[in-house]
Amino acid sequence: MCLQMAPTDDFLDYLGNPTPFHAVAATKDRLLAAKFSELDPKESWGKLSPGGYFVTHCETTIVAFIVPSKKATHFRLVGAHTDSPNLRLKPKPSYSKEGYAQFGVEVYGGALLNSWLDRDLGLAGRVLLAGKDGGKGEGTSRLFKIDRPIARVPQLAIHLDRDVNERGVILNKQEHLAPVLGRAVPKDFSERSLIAKELKVKEKDILAIDAMFYSLEKPTIGGAAGEFIFSARLDNLAMCHAGLVALLAAAAEKKSDSTAIPFLALFDHEEVGSESAAGAASAFLPRTLERIVLALGGDKETEHKMFARSHIVSADMAHAVHPNYPERHEARHRPHLNQGPVIKVNAQQRYATTGATRALIERYAEAAKIPIQLYAHRTDLPCGSTIGPITSAKLGIPTVDVGNPMLSMHSAREMCGVEDGPKMTELLRRFLVG
Ligand SMILES: [Zn+2]
Repeated sequence: MCLQMAPTDDFLDYLGNPTPFHAVAATKDRLLAAKFSELDPKESWGKLSPGGYFVTHCETTIVAFIVPSKKATHFRLVGAHTDSPNLRLKPKPSYSKEGYAQFGVEVYGGALLNSWLDRDLGLAGRVLLAGKDGGKGEGTSRLFKIDRPIARVPQLAIHLDRDVNERGVILNKQEHLAPVLGRAVPKDFSERSLIAKELKVKEKDILAIDAMFYSLEKPTIGGAAGEFIFSARLDNLAMCHAGLVALLAAAAEKKSDSTAIPFLALFDHEEVGSESAAGAASAFLPRTLERIVLALGGDKETEHKMFARSHIVSADMAHAVHPNYPERHEARHRPHLNQGPVIKVNAQQRYATTGATRALIERYAEAAKIPIQLYAHRTDLPCGSTIGPITSAKLGIPTVDVGNPMLSMHSAREMCGVEDGPKMTELLRRFLVG
C-alpha cells in the first residue's frame, strides 16, 4: 500500500461527526459498506468464519475485528476514543433569565472553556422515543443534529471586564457557560419542543434526551500552504479514523498467511476517566475478546495463550510543541506537525509504552519509512493519560501509546498536520496484520 499524503474528504467528513453517537454510526456505515457483519451481543455468535465483524455497545462504543483464514493465534488491538470535551445539556436544561431563553449545560471533560465563547452552536445527540417497543424498555433510539446556529455563549464585553486581557478569561462553569437560544420565544419553549419539532415527533413521545452543543465551523484544510487541518474533535476522531481506515485496508488486503486477529476498539468516556459501561475500563472489551475466542472453537486456556501473544496500540492525539509557549514542553521531546506519529512515554505509567512495545512499533515504522517522534511531558508538570494504561492493566497485554501531533488540544477548534494522518494509518495497518 502506498502512502497517500493528502487528507481525504472522508477524513474531513468523519471529523464532522458532532457526538460519539454520530461517530459510532459513521463507523458502522463504513464497516457495513466494506461487508463487515454486525454481531448482536444479546444473541449467541455461533461459530465465526473468516471475515470482518463488528459489535456496538451503548451506541457510543464500537469494536470491529477480522477473523483470519488461518487458525488465529493472537490479537492485534488498536484502541482510540469517540468522545471529546464539550457542553452537554443537563436533564432539566430549559430556563429563562433576563428575558432570554437559555439551556443549562454541564462541562464534559477537560474543555478549554474560553474556546466555546462567541461560536455559532448547533445541538446534536440521541433521543429515546416511546412507541415501537410497546411502552416497555428504553424506547427506540434516534440520532439528531440541529445543524443551524441555534445558540451562542456570548462573552462579556471588555468594557464590563476591564482587566480581562491582563488577568485572562475566568469562567465559572455554572454561571457563565449557558448558551442563549432566543428572546421572543414561545412560553412552552423547551429542549423537548425544539427537538420534537426537529424530528417531527410528538413531544410526549420523547422519553429521554442525550444532547450536546457543537461548533458549526466545518473541518477544513488550512495554513498558507494548506499544511494544516483545522477542526473540532481531532482528539480523538483523527485516531478513530486512522484505526478504522487501517482495519478496512487490512480487510481488503486479505493477507492469507496472517494468524493475527486485527481488532479495533473505539471507546466512549475517555475524557471523563473511562469508568462506565461504555468506557475502556468496563468489562465489555475482555468479554468481547473472550466471546471471539469461544466462537472460534477455543477455550479459556486458548484465550490466555492468545492474550500472552497479543499487543495493543493505544492511539490518542499528542501535544506538538507550541511556538508561543516552547517553555511548556520538555526540551528534548518536542513533536512537530507533519513530522510523523508520536510515541508517548511516561515513567509514572500515565502512558503504557514500554521499551519493548516501543521497539515493536518502531520496527514497523522503519520498514514503512515512517518517521517517529517521541513525547515525554515536562517532569514538573502533571501528565494527562489515555486508554492505553487502562486497557493494558485490564487485559495484561503489553501496550504502546501513540498519537499524531496537534495544537490546541481540548479546544472547540483544534489543529493538526495534513501529512500525519496517512502515516499513522499505514503504521496501524502494518501493526494490525502483524
Ligand atoms: Zn484524547
